[in-house]
Amino acid sequence: SINKGPNTYSYHIDHINEHTQRQYDIEYELRHALEKSELSLVFQPKVDSTTHGFIGAEALIRWTNEKLGFVSPTEFIPIAEKSGLIIPIGSWIIDQGCKQARNLLDRGYDNFTVALNVSPRQVIQDIILEKLEAALHKYDLDGRYIEVEVTEGLFLEGSTTVDVQLEAIKIINASLALDDFGTGYSSISYLRDYPFDTLKIDQSFIRTLDIHDPDATGLVRAIVKMGHALNMKIVAEGVETKEHADFLKEEGCQILQGYYFAKPMAEPDLLNWLKAHD
Ligand code: C2E
Ligand code: CA
Ligand code: CA
Ligand code: CA
Repeated sequence: SINKGPNTYSYHIDHINEHTQRQYDIEYELRHALEKSELSLVFQPKVDSTTHGFIGAEALIRWTNEKLGFVSPTEFIPIAEKSGLIIPIGSWIIDQGCKQARNLLDRGYDNFTVALNVSPRQVIQDIILEKLEAALHKYDLDGRYIEVEVTEGLFLEGSTTVDVQLEAIKIINASLALDDFGTGYSSISYLRDYPFDTLKIDQSFIRTLDIHDPDATGLVRAIVKMGHALNMKIVAEGVETKEHADFLKEEGCQILQGYYFAKPMAEPDLLNWLKAHD
């Protein structure tokens, strides 16, 4: 009889089916996640590299479903993008992020931004400006408290209105960050062609950075220099050690984010963290 080892055709079919089933389950459950209040935002502080003072927080989405348990955003966000569910979920993220910014203002914090991750699909297919404006109005918030993080994926979709959409974000006074810098293909021209205020060095360059390796440190140094030459602030994410925090400060990287300072936290924990930091 036929040997049914792991390299046989039927193994691959089963494997593909399993993968499709998981994606199907996620999409099915995600369709009801908003109405069932299964989604939440957590907030990860960003700090000034010199003072280690709070300068803002990145909003990161979390989803726990009764059947699937905890599902990582790296798994469900791409499915939300493909299925179009990112449009309602993205609007919810914008609303909840602005709500948190209002909350921080009401508690007396004033020098901060709440950074929202915005998917390419959301920028291209949705009227993101309208959503942002509605949320700013609802929470009586100036746009300067909001930062929008986009990835290079945005430019690979071949949309011709990206520049208009990104300019619109600037017009309402929000700032614009290029996320995951260094992981794509031709990011350098995007820095020139679009109005980014901030460049986030991808954590893959930071987490495993050997500060005694001249090639690795040279690359980080060059990214910081290039960003500064283009008048951008540099954020390093994935800062897990004091050694990395000190190195990045020395290199002139102004903003740090990572487990060394704080993990992403639910709102009450963020407020406690802030109190302990004052
Ligand atoms: P990202 O935007 O690059 O977010 C940074 C990720 O790195 C977060 O993972 C964060 O928890 C993690 N992180 C931060 N500091 C450290 C560190 O020091 N060490 C390590 N090992 N990890 C660190 P998370 O929350 O799982 O999010 C993963 C990705 O999912 C995000 O990457 C982003 O692409 C996407 N995502 C998360 N929330 C949203 C959202 O609200 N909207 C959209 N469109 N995408 C989101
Ligand atoms: Ca981000
Ligand atoms: Ca990032
Ligand atoms: Ca990243």
